Order: sequence, then structure tokens, then C-alpha cells
Amino acid sequence: MPLQLPIYMDHAATTPCDPRVVEAMLPYFTEKFGNSGSRNHSFGWAAEEGADYGREMAARLIGATEKEIIFTSGATEGNNLAIKGSAYMYQKAPAGAAKRGHIVSCLIEHKAVLDPCKRLQKEGFDVTFIEPPADGVVTAEMVKNALRDDTILVTIMWANNELGTINEVRQIGSLCKERGIIFHTDATQWAGKMPTDVEADNIDLLTWSAHKMYGPKGVGALYVRRHRPRVRLQALQEGGGQERGFRSGTLNISGIVGMGKACEIAMAEMEHDAIRLAKLKAKIEAGVLAQLDSCVVNGHKDKRLPHITNISFGFVEGEGLMMAVKDIACSSGSACTSASLEPSYVLKSIGVGDELAHSSLRLSLGKWTTDEQVEHTTSAVVQGVKKLRAMSPLYDMHKEGIDLSKVQWAHH
Ligand SMILES: *Cc1c(COP(=O)(O)O)cnc(C)c1O
Repeated sequence: MPLQLPIYMDHAATTPCDPRVVEAMLPYFTEKFGNSGSRNHSFGWAAEEGADYGREMAARLIGATEKEIIFTSGATEGNNLAIKGSAYMYQKAPAGAAKRGHIVSCLIEHKAVLDPCKRLQKEGFDVTFIEPPADGVVTAEMVKNALRDDTILVTIMWANNELGTINEVRQIGSLCKERGIIFHTDATQWAGKMPTDVEADNIDLLTWSAHKMYGPKGVGALYVRRHRPRVRLQALQEGGGQERGFRSGTLNISGIVGMGKACEIAMAEMEHDAIRLAKLKAKIEAGVLAQLDSCVVNGHKDKRLPHITNISFGFVEGEGLMMAVKDIACSSGSACTSASLEPSYVLKSIGVGDELAHSSLRLSLGKWTTDEQVEHTTSAVVQGVKKLRAMSPLYDMHKEGIDLSKVQWAHH
């Protein structure tokens, strides 16, 4: 069979829905369409059975109990509920007062964590954003140094979505436990791909999303610990009191069933997938580094997810690079903000220069990525970069051994 183009290498942005997930969901749009809140007839009971299944699978995936799972619309909502909901509940002073409490996060969190933290900052909370080191890994030591007597919440992601780097979650959790501080982790890139155990990993609040793990879009879950300690949250959305009052609104039963199926499949297949994808990712990195000079794989060498690689290419220009690899659906190190292209704040925060950030690619592999696709991607990237460099006077100078950092450029 000929290779289909473009090749999807952007699984960190979203994944295709597993056909087994779609199949499990279908009855819940039609014959099992009931509202799980309808307690007095079989339509409601059938819907509730679906929600129970999803809740059981979601809980099992992360080592939690069913009562600790709150279904949401995705990780953005889960992060907002976890961060604002706990900050309001555990604040040291009421709204309007100064010194409402201290929160620790990190500069390379997803916007769905950074922006709720910034909102709280405006409302009178103090927030420390840890500056990550060049390898992108947030350690327990860094968190420890940021803690204060009035710290109420630590929110550190499990794995970074741009770099794939893995933070010291278990150790950070243990530190927070010792100090009686609530610990939240955005596990959207981690859960369903890597083993998760909220007990052993010392987590109080954990967010994830179905569409990053072969489930449907528009559904996610928030784990809220019920014992040692019993974590309380202030609801952000009020109404019918569903999800133990944490998240009112009629349950998205088909979505919850789909998420449950995705969790069930993940438990059975994640180990096999991780081993396979780590090999494929290593193949891309080795192929690129063997055939091209002046490129760097960003983030820690080993502490990275099996399926994400982020590579910066020297002596090419960002837009040219994206054009050159247009058959590969992937992400660049540029983010569209209004009219202009901004270098990724994640790459910037770990010390990658603006130019190099623009000429970076994030390639993220998935369950159905083939050897053939990986080979084609590697050669497309290598050929693309070589072609651009062949037209680059800077690259010529570099090849001639001229140190470009010492060149006196004429200013016009
Ligand atoms: C995708 C992603 C989110 C947002 O998830 P949605 O379900 O799309 O709201 C949050 N955090 C991380 C780390 C992500 O990768």
C-alpha cells in the first residue's frame, strides 16, 4: 500500500479516536440516550450504567476509587477547577484581602495552568513560577526551594506537552504531603501512556483528557483525593449538583463511556505501545542527528515520554522549515499570537534562542504510527533541512569555520 500523505506526527496535540472507543460510544447517542440523573426509569438507569463504567475505568487507570473521579469537558476545565477551586477553598484570607495564600507552579506549564494561576495572582494570591533548567525537568529540590509557610497549592505538570520531559512528580508529591500542601498535576500528556498511581505518586488532584489518549474530544476527568487528606474544592459551576457538587451539568454519557473505553484499552496496551514508540522515536532522532549537523534534541536526554521529540535545526528559517516538511503534520516552535509568530515560551524558558525556537519541530508519534511513516518523516526532515541550508549563506560561512558569533555585521 502506498504511503498516505500527509503523515500525522502531532499526537501531542490530539489523537485519532480508537474505533473500539467509537463503537462503545454509539449506543449512548441513540437507544441509551437517557439522563443519568433520571432515577425513576430504565432510560436513566442505562445512562447511569454507562457513567459507572467510565468512572470505574478512569479510576482504575490512575489507581483511584470511583468516588474520586469528577468528569469534566477536558483538561482545560479540569485544571481550572483544580487550581481555582482549591485556591478558593484553602485561601488564608478572604477575597479582596491581600495575602490570600501562595501557589507554586512553573513557567513551562500549559496555558490551561498558567492562565488560572495568573488569574489568581490578579485576585491577590502570590504565585511563584519556577524557572526550569535547560533540560526542562522540574525537580523536587526546585519545588522545595520555592515553598513558603503560606504555600497552599503546588501545581506541576507530569510531562511537558512540547518537550515530552518528565518532572519529579512522585518526589514533589511526597514533599507536599510532608508539608500539608495540596499537590495538583496536569497529567494530560502522561495518563493513559505511562503507569499512574495516585497513592504511590502522592497526588491530591490530577487532570487528564480523553482526546490525548485515543478517546473523544470534549471529555476529561479530574481526580480529587478523598482520604488523607480529603481534598475540598469550591465549585466553579453551580446547578444540578452532579459530580458530588464539584461540577454541575448533565453528564456527557457518550463521552464518558468513550473515555472509559480509552482508559480500559490504555491499561491493556500502554506498555506495549510505549516500548514500540520509544524505539521509533529513537530512530527518528538517530537518523536526523546522523545526517545533519547543527541540530539539538531539546529537553532531558532520558527523562522524556516515549513518543515526543522536539528538535531545533540551526541555519534554517522557521517558515521555510514548515514549508519544507509540509507532508508531515507536526508542530513548530512558533505560536500564533494575534498577527505575529512568537517563539514558543516553553523553548524560550529553557534557554533556546528565538531564532532556534522558530526553527524547531515537535514530532509526536501514536499508536498507529508505522515504521514506514517514521522512515519517510526522517528523510523528509533531513532533505528539507539540507535543501534550505544549501541556499543559506550563513550555513556556508559556518561550514568554512567562521564563528558567526564573532562576525561584525554591517548595520544599515
Ligand atoms: C492538551 C493539553 C491540555 C488541554 O486539554 P483539553 O482537553 O484540550 O482542554 C492541558 N494540558 C496539557 C499538558 C495538554 O497537553
